[in-house]
Amino acid sequence: MAYAYDPQNIFAKILRGEIPCDKVLETDHSLAFRDIAPKTPDHVLVIPKGAYVTWDHFAADATDAELADFTRAVGQVAQMVGAAPGADGAGYRLISNAGRDGVQEVPHLHVHVLAGRPLGWMIR
Ligand code: C5P
Repeated sequence: MAYAYDPQNIFAKILRGEIPCDKVLETDHSLAFRDIAPKTPDHVLVIPKGAYVTWDHFAADATDAELADFTRAVGQVAQMVGAAPGADGAGYRLISNAGRDGVQEVPHLHVHVLAGRPLGWMIR
């Protein structure tokens, strides 16, 4: 499958520094910033710096260094905002929307890290 990447998508512009973001973490291959319209008290997006559209695109084409860096970046952000699930009820949720059925708005791979309140479980 060929993955068509649009270099004019908004996250590509953030990566190029053309529009600002509220950065929480930057690594060699990843960037994390607060969602502009947070759905929870802590809502951070983690994106790879490479031109990947979805998780399956990334898993197929990324280098091992990119895969390791991104996975660790997501984990680091989850620790920053959600800590580890424990007896006090803290925790977090990871979501990565892909394609039309996944209701992906921005066609650059991103993982939503949601935390800061009880989330319930829903798929609408
Ligand atoms: O997963 P999906 O593509 O639907 O979500 C895109 C997310 O990017 C939304 O939660 C939206 O609020 C966020 N966004 C952002 N900064 C922008 C544009 C969109 O944080 N400049």
